[in-house]
Amino acid sequence: MCQVDETDMGLSLLQRIEYRAGTVLPLSARTARSRRGILSVTFDDFPRSAWQVGGELLGAVDGRATYYVAGRFHDTAVDGAPYFTSRDLIDLVAAGHELGCHSFDHQSALKVRLSSYMASVRRNADFVSSILPGYHLRSHAFPYGQVRVANRLALRGKFAAQRGIETPRKLDRFDPTHLRAGALEARREGQIDWPRLIEEAARSGGWLVLFTHGLRSRPSPYDAQPKVLEGILRRAQNEGLEILPVGEALDRVQAGP
Ligand SMILES: [Zn+2]
Repeated sequence: MCQVDETDMGLSLLQRIEYRAGTVLPLSARTARSRRGILSVTFDDFPRSAWQVGGELLGAVDGRATYYVAGRFHDTAVDGAPYFTSRDLIDLVAAGHELGCHSFDHQSALKVRLSSYMASVRRNADFVSSILPGYHLRSHAFPYGQVRVANRLALRGKFAAQRGIETPRKLDRFDPTHLRAGALEARREGQIDWPRLIEEAARSGGWLVLFTHGLRSRPSPYDAQPKVLEGILRRAQNEGLEILPVGEALDRVQAGP
């Protein structure tokens, strides 16, 4: 099992220090302001259920998501769960969702040289281009959420946004080189107060990002139950939030209300 986003992976002390620095150092802190507040739903890697189940749930609330592709999982299955196909990528883009760029090999930025990491990101972008020629990937997500300052700097010129997995704090502030995102995962159930965050996004016109992997009624530790995501989407809709992919949300919050 290697596709999972996991923060505790036996990092050395130096790697932990780099990781910590990568999550706390502001490189481009900005104010997020939108008229109604925004929720961005993101899926990593990604299992087919993220599209087959998630696409339907999002469509029911007039929402669209970002799917962070990691090429190595194309047409595979992990622990019995099928992963995305070429057709899925074509169909979800046609439905108005966004493709984001994980890395092809799904390596931790803390465990490989910067040059290897960037090569894997390029390979991933080439992979997407081989299926959707000319598709512009605007957003990157760090595998395992493991960020490093050098990688954030190197990726800044290639992607408008980079997403991690740190729990959101103030929703009216963000740094596009390290977007915070709340974990909607079975293993972390109950750890995030989603109603409070949704209410805060609505009140402040801020931007709330969440991430998960697959959607299954009997989820793996890294998946979410469809009914849990459905509840969050309904609440966001009732609070008046727009449910937008990361790239569009970024445009919106930068333009202001
Ligand atoms: Zn991942």
